[in-house]
Formats: sequence, structure tokens, C-alpha cells
Amino acid sequence: MSDSRPTATPVRVTEAFVSYRPAVDCARLTQRLLSTVPHKYLVELDSVVLCSLSEQSRSVRIGTLPRRGRRIKRDRVAGLYHHASRGQKAWIQIFVDNIQFPPWYLSWIGPTSEMAFGSVLYHELGHHVHTIRPEYREKEDVADQWSDRFLLNHLKKKYLFWYSALWCAAKLGRLLFTSKLKSRIGRLTTVTPGGR
Ligand SMILES: [Zn+2]
Repeated sequence: MSDSRPTATPVRVTEAFVSYRPAVDCARLTQRLLSTVPHKYLVELDSVVLCSLSEQSRSVRIGTLPRRGRRIKRDRVAGLYHHASRGQKAWIQIFVDNIQFPPWYLSWIGPTSEMAFGSVLYHELGHHVHTIRPEYREKEDVADQWSDRFLLNHLKKKYLFWYSALWCAAKLGRLLFTSKLKSRIGRLTTVTPGGR
């Protein structure tokens, strides 16, 4: 079965909303985003649970969580990775109401909602991959790096035009930066007449 088919993912996607109704079909987005992730990165991941932070208990909403050596407020968190514990497989919790979706009038630019949602989902998935492939670095950096990789791979598989456009923009940006840097270094290393 192809990786690009939504039914190919072994991960359950569950919607756990009470009265909150997200503006976009997040279950479909999740299936679509997971469909481009190689299965080897999804092993031992039980499910992705989509919910609203505002509908969670006080203990989930109030307080802080550690991140990069600091504490961040729980009400700013858009996703959580729950490690496997006591016989229960690992799972991902996404607080949809904390994701900053772009306004509808920017939808012509491309898959902006998918990218906004994907950056959160893939970051949490990055924490899962970190448990499969241990690296001795800051765990948030590792998760961010996996998130970027999964997002680019998703664009390449589902939106080749946008992937190509981004690739060209990145190349051009790097080229401009390099030539600017070179000319700046050139100016700095140029010996002025009479100088030493
Ligand atoms: Zn994280």
C-alpha cells in the first residue's frame, strides 16, 4: 500500500471535542499529514488525539511545563507527546484551539492551514522519533529538526509546486546571502590606498 494513501497509517486518529468545533477538518489533515511519514517512524505510536485545550480539566490548562530549560505556561501549548507508560503505547495530543491557523484570505498562497497544523503535529512526532532514534541533544531541537524534515517531505509528496518554489527561494536566498557576505568580506579585506 502506498504511503500517500490516508488509510495507510497505522496510527489511530481520534477527535475528542465536546462542543468545540474546529474551523478546519483536523482529522482529515492529520491522516493526510501522517500518510507521507514513513511507517518506520510511526511504530509504537498508538494514536493522535485531537481536542480543545479550553475543554480540558483545570490540571491540564493551569500551570507550567518545562521547555528548553525554562517553564512555559500550559495555556500556550498546542501539542503534547505522551511517552509509553504502564503498558500503554505512546500517543500525541493536539490542542487544536491553540494552533494559529492563517486567515482564510491567505488560503490562495498554498497549503497554509496544513503547514500550520503540520508543524505542531510533526514536532510532537519528532519527540516520538527521538525515542526510536536517540540523540544526545536538546530534545526540542531534535523535535524541531524532525518536524522540518517531515514538513518538507510532505510538501514534496503532496505539493510539488510549492516544494519547488520553496526550494528555489531557499537557494536564491542562500545565493544572495553568500554574495552579500562575499562582497562584505571583500570590502573588509580590501586594502585602502596608503593603508597597511
Ligand atoms: Zn516539544
